[in-house]
Formats: sequence, C-alpha cells, structure tokens
Amino acid sequence: MSTVLLTDKLPYCPGCTHHHVTRQTAKALEKLGVSPLDVVLVTDIGCHGIADAVFATHTVHGLHGRSTAIAAGIAMALPAGKKVVVFIGDGGATIGLQHILEAARMNVPLTVVVHNNFLYGMTGGQPSGLTPPEFKTMVAPEGTHLPHHNLCELVHEAGAAFAARVVGLGDFSSTLADAFAQDGFALVEVLEMCTSYTPKFNPDFKLRQVAEAAGYAVGSWTNPPRPPFRLQFRGGKPSLLSQLKLVARQENVGLMRRLAIVLAGSAGEGVQYAAESLARAAVSGGLHATKKGSYPVTVGVGFSAAEILLSPHPIRYHGITEPDFLVITSEDGLHWAKPKLATMRSGRVFVDASLPQLESPVPVERRDFRTPFGAKNAALLALATVAQEEAFLPEALVATFDPRAKVATPKS
Ligand code: SF4
Repeated sequence: MSTVLLTDKLPYCPGCTHHHVTRQTAKALEKLGVSPLDVVLVTDIGCHGIADAVFATHTVHGLHGRSTAIAAGIAMALPAGKKVVVFIGDGGATIGLQHILEAARMNVPLTVVVHNNFLYGMTGGQPSGLTPPEFKTMVAPEGTHLPHHNLCELVHEAGAAFAARVVGLGDFSSTLADAFAQDGFALVEVLEMCTSYTPKFNPDFKLRQVAEAAGYAVGSWTNPPRPPFRLQFRGGKPSLLSQLKLVARQENVGLMRRLAIVLAGSAGEGVQYAAESLARAAVSGGLHATKKGSYPVTVGVGFSAAEILLSPHPIRYHGITEPDFLVITSEDGLHWAKPKLATMRSGRVFVDASLPQLESPVPVERRDFRTPFGAKNAALLALATVAQEEAFLPEALVATFDPRAKVATPKS
C-alpha cells in the first residue's frame, strides 16, 4: 500500500492513463522519501483533478488553467524542503500557458505534471493547444490541422530548470522523481490516452505512434542552475527589512493602528509620486501599505488625489471612509476634497497656507507646503510632515522623500 495514496481504488474511467500518472507520482515521491505532509498538490479542472480525494498530501483545487499560478504563490511562500506539485491537463495548460511560462521564467520551485491526452476530457473531448493536427475529436472530426504547442520547448526556452516528456506507459517514476528533486521550476508532460473519447474518433489510436507522428519527442531538457524564486525575507541572514525594523524600534517609532491619509493637490505637482514614496518608505519600514490614485482622464490638468493606507497588519480592504489625515496642497485639491472634508467628524486637516479660510467640522491646520521648495515639492513636503508628526517611520526613511533632506538651501 502506498504511503502517498489513501486508496488503491482510483476514480478514473477504466483504462485511462490518469491511473498510471497518479500511481507513478506517488511512487516518485516515495522514492525521494518525502513525507506526504511536506507536499502540496494543486490540481486543475479536469478528470485528473478528482485526484484530490486520493492523495494523502495537502491538496488545493484550482480554477481552470490557474492552478500553476496558485501553486506558484504557495511555492514562493514555503520554505525549502517542501514540494509543490501541479496536476493539470492539456486543456488547462493551454488556458494557463502564460502562468506556466511565467513560473518557468521566474524559476518558481514547483513541478507541473501535464496530463496530455490531446483533448479536454471532462467537457466532452474538445481539442486543446496540445492536440496533434491529425488527432480527431468531436468538434474537429477531420483533425484541427493546426500545429500544437511544444510545451517542453516553451518552458525550456523560458528558463525551466528541468523539462521532460514521457509516454504514459511503463515506469516513468524516475523522471518524475528527477523533476520533484529540483529546487526550481520543473515540468513533466505525460502523453496519455482518454479511453472514453479517443477511440470513438480515432479507432486505430496507438499512443507511441501518434506521439511520434506529431513530433512529440520524448526526453529531458535542463538549464544551467540558477536560484529559485522565493520571497526574499525568508533568507537566513538578517534582511534589510529586519534591520529597518530594528532601527524603528531604536528610534521608538512605529504604527500601532491603521492610518488613512488622503492627499489632494494638482496634476503635475507630484501628488502620486509623493504618495508612492511614502508607501514605499512605509513598506521598507516593515509596515503594510496601499496607495490609490484619482485624477481626471486628462492626466496633466486639474486635481490629483491619492489615498494611502498604512498598517502594522495586512490590509484586506483599501477603501477609506474617513481619513485620519486630509492634506490639501492646492486650489484644485481643495475643490476635489471639499465633499470629503464636509463629512469628517474626526482626524486632522492640513491645508496649504495659500488657500482661503475654510469652514470645516474639524479644526483646520494651515501650513506652508508650497513656498519652501516650490509647488512641485509641496506634496512631498506635506507627507513628510505627516510622517514626522505621527512618528511612524525612522528618520532615515522619511529622508528618502523629504525635500528638506535633499535640498540644502531652501528657496527664499
Ligand atoms: S473522460 Fe477520459 S480523461 Fe476523463 S477519466 Fe475518463 S478516460 Fe480519463
């Protein structure tokens, strides 16, 4: 009895090659001595996807074609030593081709096992992008006469650590084990037969012959080693982020709650750049940040506004109903922000000193943002002022965008 499979009874149609791929996958993982609980199997839509119920590993069932993208997210976040395996059909691989190529290009440490039976089995036997030109299906009874993608060649060109194609007959567990052993992106394309649809339209079907006639070369292809793509903060050495967090602790700065800032100014005065600079500095300082821009379709005229959310915790919703800070640096910004200002019941409002007196339900603090370094730096100066007064970032990070730190002599 397999340690990786929960049962010997598999759920596929009699004679379907999926039986063999499932058993060979289990055998390959056993060969490597991997504990099932160190494996995450991500399945796509298709008959192969019902494998979820028979594997003793963790399993995740994805959307059609998207399983590689889901698996890539999992693989990037997991520490080395865990195995992420994708089960996908030729239909799913066609739909999600870009996901597969990007995972190969990034060298995400996972293995995609492509069940290529030349058709969409679960939905009635339609041809996919991997169907040989002469292969007959219900919707193309004379064949498609179109060349199929060469998936192994594509992922190899994209930078996959390992790509292999096997005919789904005999023992190919060593090839699967070679793929699973990679610390990088691997793909194994298994050529298969769907016993429910293939013989109906291709009565003389012989898997090896069809594969050969279609130019489906078997073999394996490798690229020179390069580092796998993982989230960098999981490294063993202290990261830049942890060093910045240390600086923040030493300077006794930080943020204990979610802080919502709305910045309103004029197009061409660096509002979006200022908001992005603050958000980037916050992320560098270990905070979570979102930034959203609003401006007219004609980007270069009228108002420009930005909403920035900062939090010590992950931000699940980036809407701002009432800001903690409303910062207005120009006439255009004031015009845009007036309705928001009218509904504020708390929070602080900073308005440039050049603007007219305002009626407001909360106190308005008048500051000179536009004069010291010019209108183009008003938004940067305004956000640097907020950061300094709220003391949620180390000085060194505020200095990365504060014009006072960059311009030695202010304008007179
Ligand atoms: S429909 Fe085809 S691919 Fe699906 S389980 Fe049956 S034989 Fe296999």
